[in-house]
Amino acid sequence: MNTVAVVGAGAMGSGIAHVFALHKFTTVLVDIHQDQLDRAMQTITKNLDRQLAKELITEEEKSAALNHLSTTSSLSEGIASADLIIEAATENMHVKQEIFQTLDQASKPEAILATNTSSISITALAAETKRSAQVIGMHFMNPVPVMKLVEIINGYATDAEVTSIIQQTAEQLQKIPLVVNDYPGFVSNRILMPMINEAIYTLYEGVAGVNEIDQIMQLGMAHPMGPLRLADFIGLDVCLSIMGVLHQGFGNPKYAPCPLLVNMVAAQKLGIKSGEGFYDYQEGPKSQKVSRQFE
Ligand code: NAD
Repeated sequence: MNTVAVVGAGAMGSGIAHVFALHKFTTVLVDIHQDQLDRAMQTITKNLDRQLAKELITEEEKSAALNHLSTTSSLSEGIASADLIIEAATENMHVKQEIFQTLDQASKPEAILATNTSSISITALAAETKRSAQVIGMHFMNPVPVMKLVEIINGYATDAEVTSIIQQTAEQLQKIPLVVNDYPGFVSNRILMPMINEAIYTLYEGVAGVNEIDQIMQLGMAHPMGPLRLADFIGLDVCLSIMGVLHQGFGNPKYAPCPLLVNMVAAQKLGIKSGEGFYDYQEGPKSQKVSRQFE
């Protein structure tokens, strides 16, 4: 495994390309938008500088990483010589189905096709290809250069040899791979999202305020961040969409999204990215100020 293509140069794709290039894989970052590629290169350079300042990497490792990295807005060109392709494009079934059809047609027949999806079925994406045994989930956590976990998700037809190659690849990136099976939310979001949804219910029912809920989980359970702040960080629209996947996938009412979450998304109060969620971010993403709605 030498050459890797990462499809989608957003928050996750740029982080994934960063770690592969840093570990000396020839890495091609692909996006349909040239401005996203330019932004991704700026972010990667800034984050390498941050690692350099903390003495986590050397100047030589930074230059080698940048030398191992290239970008293109042509999907077929970017994936042509890749041994592994990691799709990290927009979380939309239709977008990913089209990408997987192209990956299947335009990549080397032996290439492994991985997806970084948070919630879409690996098995359904594999069904868009003629190589379902070579399709797998490789779910990195945000921010990718910092977080150790890679949740590896076996689709219904994933070959055990492919799983083993992907585990070894994650280890080469100095990550910790953990293998799970393909059911809604996998393990990470199946446990995390109902916890966040329950925190929102606790607020909605007036059991406690934003600060109390977050601090109880931080101070009492040693979580680095409270669940409401984490929801703001992830994006309330993303949380709602994943609750929808769990609710629909299992048909169990315990996964119904809290009406307050539904209302906040309808009001476009999406968390950090919209400037307001459970907290008010007018003064920056680290603001401690509770949103006026919940004072
Ligand atoms: P993002 O919106 O920041 O970036 C998506 C990128 O995909 C954009 O740059 C867009 O231009 C590009 N894109 C869209 N269609 C494309 C196509 N056909 N070909 C090439 N590029 C295309 O999204 P993100 O937050 O980086 O998430 C990417 C994936 O990672 C999603 O599947 C998401 O569920 C998953 N994920 C996100 C997080 C997170 O915390 N953000 C964590 C784990 C997994």
